[in-house]
Amino acid sequence: MTLKELKAHFTNSLSDLYPSEEIQSFFTILSENYLQLSRIEIALNPAKEISLETKTIFQKALLQLLNNEPIQYILGETEFYGLPFKVNKHTLIPRPETEELVEWILSEVKNIQGIEGEFNILDIGTGSGCIAISLAKNLPTSIVSAIDFSKEALKVACQNANDNQVEVHFFQADILKTAQLPKQYDLIVSNPPYVREMEKKMMQQNVLKYEPDSALFVSDADPLLFYRVISQLAKKHLKPNGNLFFEINEYLSEELRVFLKEEGFQNIEVKKDIFRKNRMIKCNLHERP
Ligand code: GLN
Repeated sequence: MTLKELKAHFTNSLSDLYPSEEIQSFFTILSENYLQLSRIEIALNPAKEISLETKTIFQKALLQLLNNEPIQYILGETEFYGLPFKVNKHTLIPRPETEELVEWILSEVKNIQGIEGEFNILDIGTGSGCIAISLAKNLPTSIVSAIDFSKEALKVACQNANDNQVEVHFFQADILKTAQLPKQYDLIVSNPPYVREMEKKMMQQNVLKYEPDSALFVSDADPLLFYRVISQLAKKHLKPNGNLFFEINEYLSEELRVFLKEEGFQNIEVKKDIFRKNRMIKCNLHERP
């Protein structure tokens, strides 16, 4: 079988399920990973003979794609904020909007003048570790800790910290049962579960079938549960000038803003993602002069 025939078979098999640009992008990503061939090299070598072994690997990936499995889980890795991250079914696939949250945090932290001494960061519900690790990488003098309730997710996060050569202090804890955090922080960040059960019907099969429910969903009756618990902890464990950052449900930003205000948080700022959806919020406990 030639490369051209492999591609034609791959494209035809997936054409009922995915748009053609997406199929093209799957084929390119798989070729880069399995054949070390770039898109240009694929185009330039249509007659290249494909080994039986390669055909088998592509066939396996094809079946997984036919079952709606995300390409990131098929390969076991993805990229976030320019860094490589391992992912599996115990971790969410990092989203571009979370990169925007990291970008916002970095621009704010770099604006905070006169940071002296330790700068302590805590990421709650770290999953693959993408927020904690990209902050550690870009704020090399900070001390970054991260919590998750899932031991399996923490294994992935630890490996990602090693792969990216940063030190992050990971610990296992269920934030809903945590009364006390280990220390005081300059910055607490979380991308907690925030999708309401009622929103499931608007979601894609690849998310619903493969990504961890526990990282995504909250009950319709109490969608701000994690925000409530985390902001209570933040009240006790943020340093006087510390900041709290959250990724948020686009439909709940106003409710959350009101809640944080009632809790005594100040300088509450909601920020939109590139799709113009209210996607992140920042606040702190003290009025700046
Ligand atoms: N933004 C994610 C999604 O749309 C949800 C992430 C989360 O619940 N924290 O699937």
